[in-house]
Parts: sequence; C-alpha cells; structure tokens
Amino acid sequence: MKKAVIVGTGLGAMTTALRLSSRGYAVEMVEKYHQPGGRLNQFKKDGFTFDLGPTFFSMTYEFEEFRKDVGMEKLPFTFRDLDVLYSVNFRGSDKRYMIYRDLDKLAAEFEAVEPNFREKMDKFLAGAASFFHDTEYLVLKRNYDSVFQYLMTLLRVPVKYSPKLLRSVWSEMERHFESREVKEIFSLVAFFLGATPFDTPAIYTILSYTELVHDGYHNVVGGMYKIVDGLKKELDKAGVKMHFNTEVVDYISENGTIKAMVDQNGNTWEADLFVVNADAAWFRHKIFKRKKFTEPKMDKLKWTLAPFTMYLGLDTKLEGVPLHNYFLGDNFKEYSGKIFKNDIKLDQPYYYVNIVSKSDPESAPEGCESVFVLCPVPDMRFKPDWSDSEQIAENIIKDLSGRIGVDLDKHIISKTVMNPVEWRDAFNLYKGSGLGLGHDLDQIGGFRPKNFDEEFSNVFYVGASTVPGTGLPMAVISSKLVTERITKAYGPVHK
Ligand SMILES: Cc1cc2nc3c(=O)[nH]c(=O)nc-3n(C[C@H](O)[C@H](O)[C@H](O)COP(=O)(O)OP(=O)(O)OC[C@H]3O[C@@H](n4cnc5c(N)ncnc54)[C@H](O)[C@@H]3O)c2cc1C
Repeated sequence: MKKAVIVGTGLGAMTTALRLSSRGYAVEMVEKYHQPGGRLNQFKKDGFTFDLGPTFFSMTYEFEEFRKDVGMEKLPFTFRDLDVLYSVNFRGSDKRYMIYRDLDKLAAEFEAVEPNFREKMDKFLAGAASFFHDTEYLVLKRNYDSVFQYLMTLLRVPVKYSPKLLRSVWSEMERHFESREVKEIFSLVAFFLGATPFDTPAIYTILSYTELVHDGYHNVVGGMYKIVDGLKKELDKAGVKMHFNTEVVDYISENGTIKAMVDQNGNTWEADLFVVNADAAWFRHKIFKRKKFTEPKMDKLKWTLAPFTMYLGLDTKLEGVPLHNYFLGDNFKEYSGKIFKNDIKLDQPYYYVNIVSKSDPESAPEGCESVFVLCPVPDMRFKPDWSDSEQIAENIIKDLSGRIGVDLDKHIISKTVMNPVEWRDAFNLYKGSGLGLGHDLDQIGGFRPKNFDEEFSNVFYVGASTVPGTGLPMAVISSKLVTERITKAYGPVHK
C-alpha cells in the first residue's frame, strides 16, 4: 500500500485525501492550525458562531463530481440556493440594488439607470456563456506539464475570444453597459478574485454567467464549516488521521525524492509521496528555498488583496438588511487604482457584509445577529504595519451604522478583528495576501505554480494556489487534477 502525507487540511487537501483513500492509498495529514479547513474555517465566541472566510460559492456540481468519484452516497452537507445573490449600496445613496438571479426582477432593479438593461445583459451573458462552455474542459480542468503544452492548448481556443484575453473586465463592461451603477456592480466579480476590474482579464466575466445563470450562488445549511465537519467525518471513516498544531518547517531528501517532512518539534513524517496544500509558491519559497522563489522574486509577483475581517455579535436584529451585501464608495476608479499599493486612506473603505444568522439563526443567540465584515486591503508588501487595525475597524463600524441606520456601537456584544498579519500567521499566506497569486494571464494555467514539484519526483501540490485557481470549487477541481497526476505516477492501488 502506498502512503501519502498531506501538508495542510484545506478544502483541496481534504478532498484529495478522500480521493486517494478511495483509490487504496494510506493517507495522513499534518496541519499547522488547531483544526481542519484552512481558510474555510470557523470559531465560536460569546455565544456566536462565525465562519472565518468563505461565505458563498458557485459551481456546486464540482462537489457532486467529487462525491461520485469517491463513491459517497450523499454529500455530508447541504447546499442552499441564494435567490437574492447579494445587495449593493453606493455611499451617499439610499438605494440598495438587489442582485436577483431572476433576470426579469434584476432588469426591474436597473430600469431607472440603464435603459434596455435586459437586452444588454442577455447579450453580455451570452458572450460569457459561450466562452465558459468552450473553455471549461479545454483549458480550465486540465493538467499542464509545461508552459509550451499550455500555450499549444490556448491555440485551440476559438480565435473569436482573443479580445477577451486582451481586454480587462472593466473594458468589457464598458462595451455592454452605460451606467456607472451597472458597470461597477457587475465588475465586482474581479474583487471576488482578490483583484480589481481594471487589472483582471475580461475572460473572468464568466463569473457573471456562473452567478446569474449557470449555477447561481449557494451557501451551506448550518454554516459553511459544515463542509469541513462533513468531510472530516468521512475522513475519519476512511481511517485518515489528522495531526493539528503540526507545522512542516523542513524536509529530508534522498536521490531526488523526499523521504520525510519535518515539523517544528523535529518529528519526521515519512511517506512514499507528499501532497502540499500550503500555498504552492510560499512552500517553494520558505521550505524548499528555491532560487525562482526568493523574497525579491515573490514580491514582484502579482498577489491578491489581503483580508481585513471583522466578526461582530449584535444584541439586536438587523431588519431589512439582506444576507450578503456590498458597500461601495463613490470613487470606484480612484479607489481600485490606489487600494493595492496603500495609496488611499482606509477611512472610507469598500467592504462586504454577511449576516450569517439571517440564513442560519443558530449562529447567534435568540434576538441577536452574527455579522461578518470583509474589507479587501493592501498586503504587507505595501502596508506592513497594522497597528491601526482598531481605528480601521471603527471606521467601518461607523460607516456601516450610517448606511443601515443602526448605531452598531450600542449593540456590539462580541467583536473580533483579524488583520493581514493575523491571516498570514494563521495559514502561512504570503504577506497576508488573502487569495494568493492573482489571476493575471501570466499567473494562470501553465504559468501558475505547478501541481507537481520541479525537483522532487514524489511531491505534488493541491489547492487554490496551484491549478486551476482560487475559490472553493477550484480547490475541489484542483484535487481532481492532482489525483490524476498521482495515479498516473503511482497507479490506483485498486479501483
Ligand atoms: C476572507 C476570505 C474570504 C473568502 N471567501 C470566499 C468565498 O466566499 N467563496 C469562495 O469560493 N472562496 C472564498 N475564499 C477563498 C477560499 O477560502 C480558498 O480559495 C480555499 O479555501 C483555499 O483552499 P485550499 O485547499 O487552497 O487550502 P487553504 O485553505 O489555503 O489551506 C491550506 C492549509 O495548509 C496549512 N499549512 C500551511 N503551511 C503549512 C505548513 N508548513 N505545515 C502544515 N500546514 C500548513 C494552513 O494552515 C491551511 O490550513 C475566501 C478566502 C478568504 C481569505
């Protein structure tokens, strides 16, 4: 029986562990944090339960594919469709735009600002749909052995899509819509990738198609951490052991293979093969100390914005505020251009608010609300000092109070702030970047850190930091791709 040690217990790791175990591998997992899930995590405080990071996702069918692949009868968690995907409010306006999946209802929301919205949106989505379906299997869900192989694959993408590679999300919006509101709202998908619409290639407008038409958005009954709880139970059944508070800091190699990973206490973790779920660039930088991944080289790469997150327990209900909300300013272009490099003050930030107790009341005591705030901020290359975190938190609370008409300061009974330094230290995120490497054309596909190691033949990588990219469904696809690589090299032990 072949043995695999997996470094990390993020979604990519847990799904890989089950895929390998179902193929007869013995699997053991080592995790730096005190519980599984990676960024898909949870904490409980003052009677409230908070999901740490992810709040919703698309492409649920990737979880179904995974379920069938591992021979599970039923997924051990339940999706919940979101009918209002999210709401958007611009600073200085009382209007709250509701982003409905129902395109007729959506059109009614924008009637006043964008004439012929439905017609324009249908055209925009049709373009995104055909690109998505023509490239999903051809480009996205594939392993690449080399940049050359990747480029050869791109040559097979119909030439009519080339402009989408050259344009930004923002210029794609400008081609279809006129109003500032529509352009800004539907280019928010770039922020979901940790970047801005001005530097994200137009190919990512496919996300508008996946959110509005293809699969919509979903969360999970009982909170997002039910995914991890459910997978952990399946892993326990499969006999996969997890070791927490165990950080890999070194390795022992022999003849081009790794013999063992070494943790902070000097314990060795031996196996036939290793799957690294820690950030694939960070691991090559920090643990393998590769020349291509020195700090100056890492710093030159394009990293996504860092998370500044806040978890509030309120002793009141927020009537009339929907589940997912974006609060934007009135200087979208200026803000987007300056936020990355810390060239703009964080006194009037843009942020996202999720009131998880709206869909999962058990996350807060009776009559209370459990609130998550995510504000994308510069990473530590541009803002290393976060001693002003309390002030930034206060700025957001004040701004939000004004916009929802509730003096939050009077109702906060639990407050936790997590800044980029804390995110970095919790999960080894490079300089606090929340979603790792960005999705620029030179950092995706064959250009992204590979899911196999360049030097050690028995080391593989899985998760959002390698192919195909960031987000929960991508981490699940990533586990499929790495399993394909591993079984090609070592064979399925059975199945
Ligand atoms: C604030 C925030 C909000 C997000 N919201 C969404 C959302 O709404 N929807 C969505 O789809 N995605 C969202 N994401 C992205 C999503 O969380 C990630 O893409 C996904 O969870 C990454 O999974 P992964 O498999 O790459 O592993 P990760 O979650 O990165 O886990 C890797 C694990 O490896 C461990 N590790 C690292 N180094 C070592 C080491 N040396 N030794 C041992 N263990 C180690 C870490 O502690 C961690 O547990 C969000 C991310 C953040 C930060």
